[in-house]
Amino acid sequence: MENLVPASLLSRKIRSNQSQGKLLRMIGKKVGQLIGDFPKLIEDGDTLMVCVSGGKDSYALLDVLMDLQPRAPVSFELIAVNIDQGWPGYDTAKIAEHLESVGVRYRMINENYASIVESMLRPGQTPCSLCSRFRRGVLYNLAQDLGCTKIVLGHHADDLIETLVMNLFYSGQLASMPPVLYSDDGRNTVIRPLALVPESLLVAYNEKRKFPVVRCGCPSCGLPAQKRQVIKRLLDTLEGENPQLKTQMLAALRNVVPDHLMDPSIKRASSDNSAKDLPSKAI
Ligand code: SF4
Repeated sequence: MENLVPASLLSRKIRSNQSQGKLLRMIGKKVGQLIGDFPKLIEDGDTLMVCVSGGKDSYALLDVLMDLQPRAPVSFELIAVNIDQGWPGYDTAKIAEHLESVGVRYRMINENYASIVESMLRPGQTPCSLCSRFRRGVLYNLAQDLGCTKIVLGHHADDLIETLVMNLFYSGQLASMPPVLYSDDGRNTVIRPLALVPESLLVAYNEKRKFPVVRCGCPSCGLPAQKRQVIKRLLDTLEGENPQLKTQMLAALRNVVPDHLMDPSIKRASSDNSAKDLPSKAI
């Protein structure tokens, strides 16, 4: 299978000598490639609820969708939403100012569940899984209230790769984050248009665009002890020895061989699968 993210994008830092417009086009191209593979990602008549946290990724996500909107072969609407979870010091005014300046329809939502999350924590437990569960509930309900057909998140290629390793090392699961995900109750669809975009491209874009990046203020945000930070460091080290590492890992997510795993619930494929070109050790 063709690697849609060239090694030069995933493995090396993007040089910041590209113009802002060129970088946005590079991001847009990756989004277009993903839509080619997942035509249900953005469909005619969609109203997309774009989640803007104040991080570089969500700002870039909004930029690329606003850029795509007038040129896309399908017609879709955008609503940017920001959720204030109630962590101290989260400067949502800066985010609102940015959304106002780009001229997108937006909603600022105050949920304040941070104190509930903290009160439910066991000693030594980090807030992330509880916090994510609360946030998911808020987003799912909000999308229904706003009449949005899809919830749009800013996860990028490096996020997918890190999540794959985190699930493998800490959750006993071979799973990452799909570009299109349907909620269990069928009411919501979550999409990740940046799934093929390397983080280095978003960093380079942010350097040019100078987004008003806001930290969420939660106690876990960016802590080096976080499992994700550990995985990031591990991948960076391995990438030093193998510059193709992330490209290969992303390719692996798009090239699953179920018959060569050990999940009894997987329906065995027909003999066609055995025709795959596998390294001899894997057979
Ligand atoms: S990093 Fe902070 S905001 Fe994000 S999931 Fe964890 S606790 Fe919640």
